[in-house]
Amino acid sequence: MNLYRIIPKIDKILDNEIIKGLISRYGKFIIKKFINLEINKFKNLIESGEIKEYIEESAVLESIVKAVASSVKSYFSPRLKKLINATGVVLHTNFGRAPLSEKVLKNVVDIAGNYSNLEFDIAMGERGIRYQNISDYLTELTGAEDCMVVNNNAAAVLLLLSALAKGKEVIVSRGEMIEIGGEFRIPEVMEQSGAILKEVGSTNKTHLKDYFNAINETTALILKAHTSNYRIVGFTKSVEAEELVNLGDKSGLPVAYDLGSGSFVDLSSFGLPDEPTVKSIIDKGVDIVTFSGDKLLGGPQAGIIVGKKKYIDTMKRHPLNRALRIDKFTLAALEATLVEYFNDKDLFKNILSLSLITEDIFNLKKRALRLKRLFAPIKSIYAEVKEDVSFVGGGAFPMNQIKTFTLQIKHQNLSAANIDKILRSSDPPVVGRVKNDVYILDVRTLLNDQITELKNVFYKNFN
Ligand SMILES: *Cc1c(COP(=O)(O)O)cnc(C)c1O
Repeated sequence: MNLYRIIPKIDKILDNEIIKGLISRYGKFIIKKFINLEINKFKNLIESGEIKEYIEESAVLESIVKAVASSVKSYFSPRLKKLINATGVVLHTNFGRAPLSEKVLKNVVDIAGNYSNLEFDIAMGERGIRYQNISDYLTELTGAEDCMVVNNNAAAVLLLLSALAKGKEVIVSRGEMIEIGGEFRIPEVMEQSGAILKEVGSTNKTHLKDYFNAINETTALILKAHTSNYRIVGFTKSVEAEELVNLGDKSGLPVAYDLGSGSFVDLSSFGLPDEPTVKSIIDKGVDIVTFSGDKLLGGPQAGIIVGKKKYIDTMKRHPLNRALRIDKFTLAALEATLVEYFNDKDLFKNILSLSLITEDIFNLKKRALRLKRLFAPIKSIYAEVKEDVSFVGGGAFPMNQIKTFTLQIKHQNLSAANIDKILRSSDPPVVGRVKNDVYILDVRTLLNDQITELKNVFYKNFN
């Protein structure tokens, strides 16, 4: 007999009650697509000889309906999911960098869910300026004359170069020819902006005289870039910001500093090295500083530009600014984040990422021990609390490990790579570290309620 006849006609499938329900919810067009996929699967199974014998048409129908329902369910389940970050990397670019606190998010919901004065001057009843609502916070916190905010720090650097140096030379040290993950490279951004890169010095050493000798009538800018994700060590020399400012003053050239992470607070009392704050760079006389909103600042993705008014004005007027501008979500989150910086007492509590970075080591140990106790009844795994190190991430403090506590896990018959795979595909997905065939959960980056969620995931998969 012709085995293809076991496949029900499409009309018959469309007449099924479950399929009808799916059509009324999602529309006929997409459901038909899923049905056709399933029909083709059956045709292929017959063609390849995997189905050799007659099957009841009703059984085939049932199988197709079930498969369609399941595909539709997974197709429309959320793709962007929250996950449990047990890597210990606080500002993980792949995981959305800084998580935001509830207080910050509340402002986003209030503003984005309503009409707002995003670009409206309420007192005057006329069009206002987008950054007006946060500009006094930013200038107060950084000591800069003026500020603006664009989509991210890469956009900030692109705008800076386009507005101030198009067709002209920009001097950059060879030791600072940075590449940040995800296609941000100084030479390429420079090319995109139309500015001409003038490299000076060597990889390990650049002297003030190298900058000096490179200045000519086509020079528009001296750019310093923070070597966020690497360090050149050994026989090295770079030129400090204040020396460049001096040179800039004498030659009538602005000096810009791409700071990358850009912190407002000194984290050295938490065992992190003395990285310059944005304010300390502005205080040295640097004309323009750019940094990210979602790195050490702990806010939303944004590129913050602070500095002298005349340069900021030029950037504000540049047509690219319109293309790179931030939206109400960013502005609402940024305002709520900035206001926390005026709360000295609770700053390290209220900015979620700062609270993770500066978490007390005894609390981390307690958290790891608690997790170990919760896992104790799971007989297939063996867990041990161990001291280890976390990283800040986001290009901040690349060389600096912060002491943490982890739970190091072995399974009676699964490899660490397999544990990792299972946990990544669980709900919610869990991402930890794998090292020497041990699966490692760093408790630093576990947020409030995630200990219980983590426990549930482990019970479901390994108990
Ligand atoms: C992170 C970083 C960038 C890119 O910033 P985004 O906000 O990711 O666009 C540029 N320069 C430096 C020095 C950085 O650290």
